[in-house]
Amino acid sequence: MSKRANSWLASVINLKCPHCRTADLFEKSTFSFSEPFEMHKRCTTCNTNFFPEPGFYYGAMFLSYIVFSFPCLFFVMFLHWILGFGIVASMAMLIVVAGIGFIYVFRVSRSIWIHMNVDYDQSIGDELARKQV
Ligand SMILES: [Zn+2]
Repeated sequence: MSKRANSWLASVINLKCPHCRTADLFEKSTFSFSEPFEMHKRCTTCNTNFFPEPGFYYGAMFLSYIVFSFPCLFFVMFLHWILGFGIVASMAMLIVVAGIGFIYVFRVSRSIWIHMNVDYDQSIGDELARKQV
């Protein structure tokens, strides 16, 4: 029985290589707090280049804005209108939550961006599953 490959969404959320969907994009875990922004230069499994050109991740900044701004807006609206917190208290809670989640949002934005630009290769996943059996 072969190991099932990650879906596109699972690969994005788990910060995996877009080409093989098995190796990690980043060197350390999200909450290691030492070098949280360091990515591997190439995939440790399939050798896909994670930095195909200079400035490749500028597009991820726009994705970060989209990924992060709407949840922040809804978070403040929920606290203010549904739970009845004042606007200052809502914004203060947003700052705390945003501070905690910033590194993961940064990483997911980069992961989405590289998954949009690099195709998945099913044969690599099949070959890895065969080696593990
Ligand atoms: Zn890979």
